[in-house]
Amino acid sequence: MSRRSTLLVLGACANALVVAAASAPAWAQTAPEITLTRLDCGTPRATMAADTGLNFSDTFANRIPNIRLVFSCYLIKHGNEYMVWDTGFGMSAGPVAPKTSLVDLLAQVNVKPEQITYVGLSHYHGDHVGQAGSFPKATLLIGKGDWDILAGPKLPPSIRRPPGDVVNPEPFVNWISGDGKVEPLLLDKDVFGDGTVIMLNTPGHTPGHHVLLVKLPRTGNVMLSGDLAHFRENYDNNVVPGFNANRAETLASFDRVKQIAANLKATFIVQHDPRDVDKLPAFPAAAQ
Ligand SMILES: [Zn+2]
Repeated sequence: MSRRSTLLVLGACANALVVAAASAPAWAQTAPEITLTRLDCGTPRATMAADTGLNFSDTFANRIPNIRLVFSCYLIKHGNEYMVWDTGFGMSAGPVAPKTSLVDLLAQVNVKPEQITYVGLSHYHGDHVGQAGSFPKATLLIGKGDWDILAGPKLPPSIRRPPGDVVNPEPFVNWISGDGKVEPLLLDKDVFGDGTVIMLNTPGHTPGHHVLLVKLPRTGNVMLSGDLAHFRENYDNNVVPGFNANRAETLASFDRVKQIAANLKATFIVQHDPRDVDKLPAFPAAAQ
């Protein structure tokens, strides 16, 4: 190749690089900041888990730990966007109501309700959805199996549920009426489109139950349980509560989540188990 033609090729390559840089795809640009903040969204029950009267094992497995259930929900920051994962009990839930509302907690980390782009819900039980109505501008992400029951004409009696965890459509009037945007999910949902925050279809506890996977740049991969398990022991030993909607689906979801946790070396956080929730930094600090 002559010197002139070499220079021409080099020039062409340089031009190509300039063009490539100007139209770089999203994945090649600076990665968004992703953080995970845990929030208290309920007051622990007065009784120990074993004394709640709830059947946490349908096989008489005697492994219910001597702890109080906690009610955690989460804020995920993705660049300039925010997602809330589960919204805990409502403020009118009596002794288990949160001491501080979710809106007031978010104010402490300088986030306004209208900045929440997505409210993702693991499932429709009252201790996970109570404050969803505080975010009417957010797009609601919820499993279709759960949404169809919430928005349906009448709750079918076949939906077994533990006492106190009433399936209540009241926090959802904004979306049921058509004023708010809702995405009922049949499968997984890649929330921000870049694979960093994914709602995983894990039915069984309820028909549309989901677990949340968050890929944090420094902490590593974290999975938030919803109610796939209520205690670490239930998760470790595939123990199914007697009040789940579908036993076989629960076992399949355990299998799927454990394979994902192993493949991605993810930390699985049982949202009701204080021993697991405490693995994340205490509010207002965020896992990064
Ligand atoms: Zn539940």
